[in-house]
Amino acid sequence: MGGGLAPYAADESQSRGRQYDEPGPTFRSEYQRDRDRIIHSTAFRRLMYKTQVFVNHEGDLYRTRLTHSLEVSQIGRSVAFALDLNEPLTEAICLAHDLGHTPFGHAGQDTLNDCMRDHGGFEHNLQSLRVVDELEAKYASFPGLNLMFETREGILKHCSKRNARELGEVGRRFLERRQPALEAQIADIADAIAYNNHDVDDGFRAGLLTLEQLRTQELFETAYREVRDSYPGLEDRRLIYEIIRRMIGTVVLDLVDETRRRLDESGVASIDDVRSANGPLVAMSDDVHAQHVGLKRFLNEHLYTHEQKLEMTRRAQTVVRELFDAYRDDVNRMPPEFAGRAENSDGDSRARVIADYIAGMTDRFAIKAHESLRC
Ligand code: MG
Repeated sequence: MGGGLAPYAADESQSRGRQYDEPGPTFRSEYQRDRDRIIHSTAFRRLMYKTQVFVNHEGDLYRTRLTHSLEVSQIGRSVAFALDLNEPLTEAICLAHDLGHTPFGHAGQDTLNDCMRDHGGFEHNLQSLRVVDELEAKYASFPGLNLMFETREGILKHCSKRNARELGEVGRRFLERRQPALEAQIADIADAIAYNNHDVDDGFRAGLLTLEQLRTQELFETAYREVRDSYPGLEDRRLIYEIIRRMIGTVVLDLVDETRRRLDESGVASIDDVRSANGPLVAMSDDVHAQHVGLKRFLNEHLYTHEQKLEMTRRAQTVVRELFDAYRDDVNRMPPEFAGRAENSDGDSRARVIADYIAGMTDRFAIKAHESLRC
């Protein structure tokens, strides 16, 4: 463990490289350079004021999309390290995976998708790729961040066949039913592990989930009993944290063990073997996966659709929908660089400019922009 890269890891010497040729980095690896570019991007800083589950101003302790991305990256790096995979690549994908998210979490994404229904739709995964490929305007000699192929491949977790055809090489795996590198597979699961656990924490803190409800979940109950047996009388805050760290530990350990088993069994010897495998090789065992999915379903039923959350959802829908309509009616309500792009395009591409502008907003910026429509 931790001693050099496994033969099936992503190795920069065999990378498909960057879209625009650049001199190699002098003191970092190529994937470390990708990670650093992501951290310096504007879209990354904006994650600080974008909703994960709770709207940013609801409380200072709740996760934002930035702290969520950091937790995803922590889990991803641990798993990559344990499996001798490429840690900086995993980290880069994890930090970038939500760059294309709209304000107001899934409510914002669903509404923008609705607004864009006749113009190719809106999908936050695809938007994350758009951010790093096109929208970040920082470098003199190329658009976007000009990231390595494997980083871009990992950011594009899902993609429709229609979009895949338009994307060229990075979309091809969706048409050919091929797998992404193991580092991308890790980032995908690390995302789900992170939100399952931090949403328990935030949901409990907000008083939307009770201990009694949470104890119906096997993953939670097992950890609960362990902590209660060892530390009877522990106060709730420390109890919850002890439970969450155990739940993360259980799932991550299982993920590492099961993935090791699948790697051995499959006999993969290179990243090409990984890409042509029948399915993902990074996976939990059936039993732990069922518990993990059970908890996810529980959160869906009890947290994401809680009345208090639905109220926020309705407000977010109004803000995003009315902003979209207003900019469509008068593109000059947007700042000059977006208004200019919109004026020089029509139909789908004009709508896409508006979607790019709204998707880039933080929660509070969107609320202010919405208020200013009335002026
Ligand atoms: Mg995420």
